[in-house]
Amino acid sequence: MTYESDALVHLRAIPGAVVLPQNTEEVQAVVRLCYREGVPFVARGHGTGLSGGATPTAGGVVVSLARMDRILQVDPEGQRVVVEPGVANLDVTRAVAADGFFYAPDPSSQQVCTIGGNVAENSGGAHCFKHGFTVHHVTGLTLVLPDGDAVELGSAALDPDGPDLLGLVVGSEGTLGIATRITLRIVRSPEVVRTLLAGFETTDAAGAAVSGIVAAGILPSALEMMDRLTIEAAERAVAPGYPAGAGAVIDRLVLASNNAGKLREFRRLLEPLGYDVVPQAELGIAEADEPHVTFIENALAKARHASTHSGLPALADDSGICVDALGGAPGVLSARYAGEPKSDARNNEALVSALQGVADRRAHYYCVLVLVRHTRDPQPIVAEGIWHGTVVDTPRGSGGFGYDPHFEDRDSRLTGAELPLARKNELSHRGQALRALIARLGEERAA
Ligand SMILES: Cc1cc2nc3c(=O)[nH]c(=O)nc-3n(C[C@H](O)[C@H](O)[C@H](O)COP(=O)(O)OP(=O)(O)OC[C@H]3O[C@@H](n4cnc5c(N)ncnc54)[C@H](O)[C@@H]3O)c2cc1C
Repeated sequence: MTYESDALVHLRAIPGAVVLPQNTEEVQAVVRLCYREGVPFVARGHGTGLSGGATPTAGGVVVSLARMDRILQVDPEGQRVVVEPGVANLDVTRAVAADGFFYAPDPSSQQVCTIGGNVAENSGGAHCFKHGFTVHHVTGLTLVLPDGDAVELGSAALDPDGPDLLGLVVGSEGTLGIATRITLRIVRSPEVVRTLLAGFETTDAAGAAVSGIVAAGILPSALEMMDRLTIEAAERAVAPGYPAGAGAVIDRLVLASNNAGKLREFRRLLEPLGYDVVPQAELGIAEADEPHVTFIENALAKARHASTHSGLPALADDSGICVDALGGAPGVLSARYAGEPKSDARNNEALVSALQGVADRRAHYYCVLVLVRHTRDPQPIVAEGIWHGTVVDTPRGSGGFGYDPHFEDRDSRLTGAELPLARKNELSHRGQALRALIARLGEERAA
């Protein structure tokens, strides 16, 4: 099974034989035999290729270089390392890191893929933007040709005599010969590395930012770009919680509410931070049940529901008014205190009537926001806000909504419906919770 394909697993063939030579001479012996007998053969590193390059011909021979995995020479002064082809990419950097060097071409498969495979595929990764690809880091090769002869191409020098046949062989997908000894160029590790992560509305905008960085004369040592689909796929698969490493690049958030006012408010506040807020209805997600007696339980249930059905990070809020003399009622039932259908006027009437003859009028507007990065997020972000006041019998003011005309702010003695909007946003439970949420998201991004 192992040798039937590379990472392009839907193309498969059963080889007639697999050989694991340990040196150049053994590779030559196998290749000569195949050449003489007219048997097809293919070189194989660790089989992480995605182009089917190491897929054998049915009945042919696989020449696995996996056992030729020695680092033969490390020369920090000359900035060269000589390796056998089966050495894993990352092991080259590990061998020279203590001397302050690294091997720059870094495919994402670098822990596993081999230098031989990298040579054949001219592999690269995030560091190649600054440092170039494998072809820019191979200075010499021993190559076993298809008839079994071995030739030396290049040397430790950067610009050896003669035609540049290395440039022809590197990237030729194993079709021109089998590399059995490879001389690599290593580069100095930077003294300091700073990692930045930025979110953009579109990939065009991200590309323009990269052009802008380069045009400003700054050459980042590594650059990686993920589009929305990739971010979502990564979140679903391993829930890295983007941006910053273990931090949080959540760039698309589902809002577990279809309330147009809330959507506008969250978009206004979160879009400048790089978040694309999508209402759950847009994704065909129905509203979740809110069976709990606490705001936080309901908010968590709503956020988890939206995340489960979207596969995306989700944000939910729950809020209401709690009156001390009523044991915290209306509480989570604030929106439907007077029963269905929901009505602000009937809710206010019910509240005032419940407080008839009650001296203690203390009340608290409460808002909790819960953001889950994924369904099973054990550490949701929770932000809350509390606004203290009292319930007045006679409604005042024409702004606001809900219980605002009957809720008198403790300090200004104005009702929520009398306060100018900007002042209300400063004081309100929702304003407090949003500011706390934004501060938390900012901390995550900076972490
Ligand atoms: C998760 C994942 C992430 C990846 N990320 C990247 C990435 O970021 N960048 C990138 O470029 N690639 C990437 N790849 C593709 C792959 O890892 C590279 O192409 C890698 O160079 C293959 O190395 P390998 O040892 O697995 O080679 P194999 O798959 O075994 O072989 C690849 C090709 O090299 C030939 N070959 C192998 N050894 C030799 C040799 N000694 N002499 C001559 N020819 C030989 C084979 O015949 C075949 O044609 C990724 C793959 C995976 C699965």
